[in-house]
Amino acid sequence: MNGKDGNGESAVKAALPPLALARLQSLRLADGVATLVLDVAGLDGLERDRLEIAIKDGLRGMPGVSEVRLAMTADKPQRLLVAVGSGKGGVGKSTLSANLAVALARMGRKVGLVDADIYGPSQPRLLANEGVKPAAHDKKLVPVPSPWGVPVLSMGHIIAPGQAIAWRGPMAGNALAQLIDADWGDAEVLVIDLPPGTGDVQLTMLQRFKPAGAVIVSTPQDLALMDATRAIHLFEQGGVPVIGVVENMAGYACPHCGKVSDPFGQGGAEAAAKAMGHAFLGRVPLDLAIRLDSDAGRPPAAGDGPQAEAFAAIARRLATWLDNRKR
Ligand code: ADP
Repeated sequence: MNGKDGNGESAVKAALPPLALARLQSLRLADGVATLVLDVAGLDGLERDRLEIAIKDGLRGMPGVSEVRLAMTADKPQRLLVAVGSGKGGVGKSTLSANLAVALARMGRKVGLVDADIYGPSQPRLLANEGVKPAAHDKKLVPVPSPWGVPVLSMGHIIAPGQAIAWRGPMAGNALAQLIDADWGDAEVLVIDLPPGTGDVQLTMLQRFKPAGAVIVSTPQDLALMDATRAIHLFEQGGVPVIGVVENMAGYACPHCGKVSDPFGQGGAEAAAKAMGHAFLGRVPLDLAIRLDSDAGRPPAAGDGPQAEAFAAIARRLATWLDNRKR
């Protein structure tokens, strides 16, 4: 057989493992030689080796393929994905995701925000760009800007507000892929607000996009901590390092004097993180101002009160972790 082989290329593609497909930049099969170019930005040496082995195993013995050549490039700016997860809803995962992204942008980081909570998207409201439709460029979505320098993509930008979404797992996974694989420009970090729990969407996310790490949010109560523990196990099993745990609604900040009291305890998440050998990234008190500002589309992290400082402290620890990861 001479020259380029289009049908053979499709067959080679079909035999690739999912991670290789997600990373594939080009594929050519000519005269029995399959040449694959892969974008390996963000993968360390071991992960690259594994990818190579998985590809060669997948194509071994395939009719029409006598040799496999791999070229790995990491030319694109290295973009790290940070998943923000929780064991259950209502613990402040979306609030934390939005405010971490804003706090990182304030520190001069180039950051984007993906609302992967595709069943209950809330980022358009939190970042005040509700009702704006994303444009598309080269078949990719272009993220919607927000007033704080954090571009955002959310299912909430794509479907009508209040419209129920009842998708099955695979469709939800594909929707998520479009949000992540969008035209994020020079963003070096993507903060990903995952749906609560440990189901299909979370698994797709881990398998397909391999976040650099995960931040787990919990409230201080025991029950929430048990759920958080499940989320931690999900990431660990998926080979995604847990960057650390954040305790939200830790203590109650008095709206009059600002003093933080402890009606339902605090410190539980810190103790649980330590017990599991994970870092504690910080705590955010239950504070009426956080809810009111969030509901009004003014991220507290963009302000200058103690609320902003609470998010900034967590963002600094996250930034340090990311810098160490890049090195
Ligand atoms: P999740 O994403 O985990 O479901 P959200 O971020 O949507 O949770 O938060 C649930 C509700 O709690 C929202 O109304 C939000 O404004 C409020 N909230 C979150 N964190 C705080 C906090 N630290 N203080 C006060 N209200 C908060």
